[in-house]
Amino acid sequence: MTVPVKIPRAWAVLLILALNACGTQPAQLHQRQFLLFGTLVDISIWSADKKKAENAIAQITADLEKMHHEWHAWHDSPLTRLNKALAAGQPGTVPPPMIPLLQKSIALSDASDGLFNPAIGKLINVWGFQQDDAPNSTPPDAARIHALVTQQPTMQDLTLAQDQITSRNPHAQLDFGAIAKGYAVDLAIEKLRTLGIHNAIINAGGNLRAIGTHGDRPWRIGIRNPRGPGVLASIEARGDESMLTSGDYERFFEYQGKRYHHIIDPRTGYPARGLASVTASVTVIYPDAATADAASTALFVAGPPRWRDIAKKMDIQYIMIVDDKGNVTMTPAMAERVRFELKPAPTVSIVALP
Ligand code: AMP
Ligand code: MG
Repeated sequence: MTVPVKIPRAWAVLLILALNACGTQPAQLHQRQFLLFGTLVDISIWSADKKKAENAIAQITADLEKMHHEWHAWHDSPLTRLNKALAAGQPGTVPPPMIPLLQKSIALSDASDGLFNPAIGKLINVWGFQQDDAPNSTPPDAARIHALVTQQPTMQDLTLAQDQITSRNPHAQLDFGAIAKGYAVDLAIEKLRTLGIHNAIINAGGNLRAIGTHGDRPWRIGIRNPRGPGVLASIEARGDESMLTSGDYERFFEYQGKRYHHIIDPRTGYPARGLASVTASVTVIYPDAATADAASTALFVAGPPRWRDIAKKMDIQYIMIVDDKGNVTMTPAMAERVRFELKPAPTVSIVALP
């Protein structure tokens, strides 16, 4: 015999809510790390839905692998095939997904006064930074560098008409190394959103974009110490922001006591050094990661004489520059947000933009 039990309506609602709460997983961090773009890629998603997060991670991993292949600057790829056509003075076919990357690169190269110049692939190659194993161990011959600089390939040499590209300079050779990671991160974040993920970080070797929050607190992002282990400083991300760093520690060799790294000054053909001080890293915060990536490279090349000028032209407000002695130069906007983690804190100069 069953006895009907009368539950008051308000209680019933409460009971259902309580049962639902038991069935839902608490939000947690879902992470995956893998090697791509010559660096460690880290995907972090904050979500209560494990299945959704894991599906999103699988999809963007596949997307990133595809981009890595399409834009590869020295393996057999759509980009190397395009470069071969340009070197032969012929039009090259640009695969449709590469068109916006190319257009963005042309615009950002222009905005940076050519200091971000993805047409200097030949120079990057001659320094040994287009190879899977360690770079060269000695600088290339000075005459060879001089010859490549004199050829002056620029993004303005290129003309894009639909999916066909021509170059009036056969020495232009595309290398998207200074923007591809940022652009890939932008596309991956866009994809995450379409998959219903709104709290995440995608980090490609210190080049990252963060959206949403980590539960009830903002994402806190570390900036690597360019001359030692650990974190130099940290910054809280505000909603949707990208933070990218160009560093002389990523790919380099030392010869006769001097460091030769992978950020090349297109004006000299040599690794960018700075003047009064030697630049070790440049960190930039900007809404989209592709712009921040191109800008961090351009500001590194610009160095002390010109970085404020180029920042203004590229509309970058948040900048931190670390020299090889560990001294920090920041814009006032950046200084407001940085928390130093390194003890003792470094010497800091705050320099306003013009
Ligand atoms: P990043 O770490 O973003 O500064 O990019 C460095 C990579 O960009 C190098 O490994 C090269 O492939 C490429 N690169 C080096 N110098 C330049 C430059 N001045 N403009 C554009 N790309 C560059
Ligand atoms: Mg860059």
